Amino acid sequence: MMHFSKVLVANRGEIATRIFRACAELGIRTVAVYTEQDNLSLHRFKADEAYLIGEGKGPIEAYLDMDDIIEVAKRHEVDAIHPGYGFLAENAEFAKRCQQEGIVFIGPSPEHIQMFGNKVDAREMALKAGIPVVPGSPDPIRSVEEAEEFAEKYGYPIIIKAASGGGGRGMRIVPSQGELKDAIERARSEAKSAFGNPEVYIEKYLENPKHIEVQILADYHGNVVHLFERDCSIQRRHQKVVEVAPSLSLTESLRSKMCDAALNLMKKAKYSNAGTVEFLVTPDEKFYFIEVNPRVQLEHTITEMITGVDIVQSQIRISEGYALTDPEMGVPAQEDLFTHGYAIQCRVTTEDPARNFMPEAGKLVAYRSGGGFGIRLDSGSAYTGAVITPHYDSLLVKVSSWAMTYEQAARKMLRTLKEFRIRGVKTNIQFLENVVQHPVFLSGRYDTSFIDNTPELFE
Ligand code: ADP
Repeated sequence: MMHFSKVLVANRGEIATRIFRACAELGIRTVAVYTEQDNLSLHRFKADEAYLIGEGKGPIEAYLDMDDIIEVAKRHEVDAIHPGYGFLAENAEFAKRCQQEGIVFIGPSPEHIQMFGNKVDAREMALKAGIPVVPGSPDPIRSVEEAEEFAEKYGYPIIIKAASGGGGRGMRIVPSQGELKDAIERARSEAKSAFGNPEVYIEKYLENPKHIEVQILADYHGNVVHLFERDCSIQRRHQKVVEVAPSLSLTESLRSKMCDAALNLMKKAKYSNAGTVEFLVTPDEKFYFIEVNPRVQLEHTITEMITGVDIVQSQIRISEGYALTDPEMGVPAQEDLFTHGYAIQCRVTTEDPARNFMPEAGKLVAYRSGGGFGIRLDSGSAYTGAVITPHYDSLLVKVSSWAMTYEQAARKMLRTLKEFRIRGVKTNIQFLENVVQHPVFLSGRYDTSFIDNTPELFE
């Protein structure tokens, strides 16, 4: 077993701070990297050391610059790099480069990143593990005729997905045959420019599914546990907005089937570190695999709240070589793991709901957050005087609430959102308040169409 003395986080914003906190609690020294544009970003000041990267480069390119980041890591004798989510987190090449340089990449192996980074390969892996996948083409689509054949077979509407897509991008719904040819051509060219890989495949577009995902932890010794599920059905245009754990709409038998399926898949794949297996669940209670995210996710917080397991610390310990069964890990055996109460997470963003959720930039003239018992805040640079730049994503703060019952957790969330005072930059807080007090939200029985089909939320 190793013990890391120093960890570099190749990321910014709230997730960088989240990881620094985990390191600090484990007695590990922390290193931040930041760009010129992030000169005043809080993550820079939350680490023990901080180094400027990507001088003269674009704000995003800088955080994607493997050479630069590895050079900083080597110069400052870093043992391991945590990539967070986004940026280099799902870049197999980066994980490999770290390995070659003798730096531990805190995440799965390059092979696993590769396998799950390609959704077509991931579907094949799921099928091998005996897990139902959304009906669709087994391989990338080679021609329009082939696409037509599959679409005919599964029936419209269908969804075209980029094999290397992610983050809600690279998907296109095709309602009928007339639009297929054009959609395939566009999807391919978009996929090439956005993800560097033109491969697209077809899935049947399921009507009103729920998005349910299972959190997994796996070590290098063959131990795998699941930390139950999150319900991420509250989405706007296929992007998660509010997440809930555990789900209110799963029967106990469906829950255990899905958790077992996720476990089996990750065991079969010989996966290691934290990962999430995502499923869609149809109204007739059938579940279908969609993808694996081989990294920590934004919504990991709510799983931590209902299980008590620190997922980021677990990632670090696993990378140090600890077994999940080691008492120091703080991860109970599967049969001793249970969920306690309910947790809800809202993604507060600097977006203007009145202008179609356009990201806003500017100075936070005032910033006061909510808080209190059962509230957790994970923020990047949210403070009075902070400048929100247009260079990065618009996530301002993740607000998570926890309580013994779902209703209490929802009321706590509403109360906390109402306590926020943010001036200078528009946010989606009013919109989130509308969501968490809506009767459908309170019933716990929502699917991925809820936001898009509920116009009163936008008032
Ligand atoms: P990404 O990797 O970009 O997040 P996913 O494959 O995870 O994309 O899908 C994101 C969301 O898109 C899902 O949660 C769901 O709302 C919707 N979606 C994806 N595939 C389908 C499908 N076959 N039928 C219906 N909705 C889908």
